[in-house]
Amino acid sequence: MSLIVQKFGGSSVADAERVFNVANIVTDTYKAGNSVVVVVSAQGDTTDDLIAKAKEINESPSKREMDMLLSTGEQISISLLAMAIEKLGFPVVSLTGWQVGVHTDSNYSNSRIRKIDHERLQKELDKKNIVIVAGFQGINRYGDITTLGRGGSDTSAVALAAALHADLCEIYTDVDGVYTTDPRIVKNAAKLKEITFDEMLELASLGANVLHNRSVEMGKKYNVNMCVRSSLTRAEGTIVKEVVDMEKMMVRGIAKDSDVARISICGIEDTPGKAFRIFTLLAKKSINVDIILQSIGRDGKKDISFTVTETNLEEALRLLEENKDTIAYENLSWTKDVSKISIVGAGMVSNPGVAAKMFEALYEAQININMISTSEIKVSVLIDSALADKAVRVIHDKFDLA
Ligand code: ADP
Ligand code: ASP
Ligand code: MG
Repeated sequence: MSLIVQKFGGSSVADAERVFNVANIVTDTYKAGNSVVVVVSAQGDTTDDLIAKAKEINESPSKREMDMLLSTGEQISISLLAMAIEKLGFPVVSLTGWQVGVHTDSNYSNSRIRKIDHERLQKELDKKNIVIVAGFQGINRYGDITTLGRGGSDTSAVALAAALHADLCEIYTDVDGVYTTDPRIVKNAAKLKEITFDEMLELASLGANVLHNRSVEMGKKYNVNMCVRSSLTRAEGTIVKEVVDMEKMMVRGIAKDSDVARISICGIEDTPGKAFRIFTLLAKKSINVDIILQSIGRDGKKDISFTVTETNLEEALRLLEENKDTIAYENLSWTKDVSKISIVGAGMVSNPGVAAKMFEALYEAQININMISTSEIKVSVLIDSALADKAVRVIHDKFDLA
């Protein structure tokens, strides 16, 4: 007998028919003699709809109230799925994040899981119940509801699998695995049989939303047996693991991230301590900065450009404007019309020329590069958003990933 955690995303539980489809997958697993813990997301576009509802009332609601609202989406799904499983005649119980004891920090809207008290969950499993858990949510030390960031149900599932020492964590979604790039952008993208945690973590962090990046981080840390597969076909999915047998591919996949804004601070006095001042200001407000570019000083002045997520743009601009005198710069400009395109592959370390090949593909398509950043296993470029999908396609072709 095995313990299996199965996670179903929003599209997998979008309507009654889909809910029953999931109920069938779950009960088949249970009938085969396994203990089953199921994690579900909010149905279809529920989370987006709730965000829109909030905006009708208040343009910038507190994050605490936002989490209170958004967590309801998952609560609807768990009860509906439990009702479907009841109807099929199996013992089942649904539990919210706080009932399970998913403890998080207090960073509302983007909390991290600290620990899971799985006593209640274990009790239900001992009673032979199928347990349905609301993804994406937890509670902080004040007893308030928190959420884990968009796409966070994947992380709920992997965290539960780690806490329960599950034999397997299956992430069911609307694609049948992890592809060389988003199959919605590139029709002939290829499905990967396996991918390493490191490569998957890079892809997820760089915009491939097929898995929440923290779920991969957690999977790696606790060595969780993970796979990504479809709730609609029986096709074999993609296994995410520590080491992959296949030769180290130069480029394993391509990711696009459109949630990017670029800020440029021009005419900064060319003296020590400016970058320190600017980035400390942002870090204090937990604003993550990604690609940073500083120009060479000229006439005693320099420019610094960097990227943040679109959600952080407003606050970053406000902080910089408030501190214009202390930082001492001439002007501030920004744009949201940029996207980050990245190539990822563990084989890059030992293959020079990978970045050049990516730049060649962009040059041939006459796509201009604004910024570049590299690490051991990835190269990212910032380009005009309107050309982002085209860029993914030409790079995919260049590296023969189809
Ligand atoms: P769920 O609601 O099940 O969590 P998501 O929408 O979060 O589903 O993630 C699945 C989507 O991720 C796919 O529909 C696909 O468009 C997108 N995606 C992005 N990059 C990739 C990739 N490399 N491989 C597979 N899917 C990808
Ligand atoms: N419902 C949440 C979202 O839409 C969490 C998830 O789907 O994983 O982001
Ligand atoms: Mg998701």
